[in-house]
Amino acid sequence: MDTTSKLYQDIENELLIPREKIAERVRTLGEQITQDYQDRNLVVVSILNGSVLFFADLIREIDLPLTIDFMQASSYGDSTRSSGFVHIKKDLDRSVEGKDILLVEDIVDSGRTLSYLKTMLKKRGASSIRIATLLDKPEGRQVDMEADYVGFIIPNAFVVGYGLDYSERYRNIPDIGILRPRVYQE
Ligand code: 5GP
Repeated sequence: MDTTSKLYQDIENELLIPREKIAERVRTLGEQITQDYQDRNLVVVSILNGSVLFFADLIREIDLPLTIDFMQASSYGDSTRSSGFVHIKKDLDRSVEGKDILLVEDIVDSGRTLSYLKTMLKKRGASSIRIATLLDKPEGRQVDMEADYVGFIIPNAFVVGYGLDYSERYRNIPDIGILRPRVYQE
C-alpha cells in the first residue's frame, strides 16, 4: 500500500511500526506461544474489533492444534481514553471450563479491560488465562496488569492502523502510526 495515499493523510509521516516489523514480531510471538502451549487445551480468543488483524496473523504462526472464539467488550470513555466501566457486547460462544485461554488484544493502556475480562474468565473455570497484546502503553496503566506476550512497548500517544481505529476508521492501514492530534482536537 502506498504511504502517500489518502488513507495515510491523518497519521504522522514517520510510521511508528512499519508492516515488516509487525510481521517479524508476530512470527516470534507465535514461536514462543507454540513452545509454551505444547500438550495444552489452547483456545485463542480475539477481543473484537481492534485485535482482528493481529489475531488472524498470530494464529497462523502458532504451530499447534487450537480452537478460536471471539468476544467484544466496550469500555465507556471519551474517544481516546477508556473509563474502566467494561460492558460485554458479545460473549464467547463456548464454555472456557478446563481450557487454556489466550486472550488476544490490540493494545493495553489503563489495563482495565483485560483485568476485568481475566477475572470474569477465571470465575468461569478456565484452567489458565494468558494475554497476548500487540502493543503496550505502560505509561497509561491504572491497574496492575501485565500481558504475558507483548509485541511492542510504545509511548503514550494515540495510535491507529493494523486493526486499531479512531471512530471506526483507519483499521485497514497495514502499518501502525500516530494519529495527528488535529483529528481528535477538531
Ligand atoms: P484499557 O487498557 O485502557 O482498558 O483499554 C484498552 C483499549 O483502549 C484498547 O483495546 C483500545 O480499544 C483502546 N485504546 C487505548 N489506547 C489506544 C490507542 O492508542 N489507539 C487506539 N486506536 N485505541 C486505543
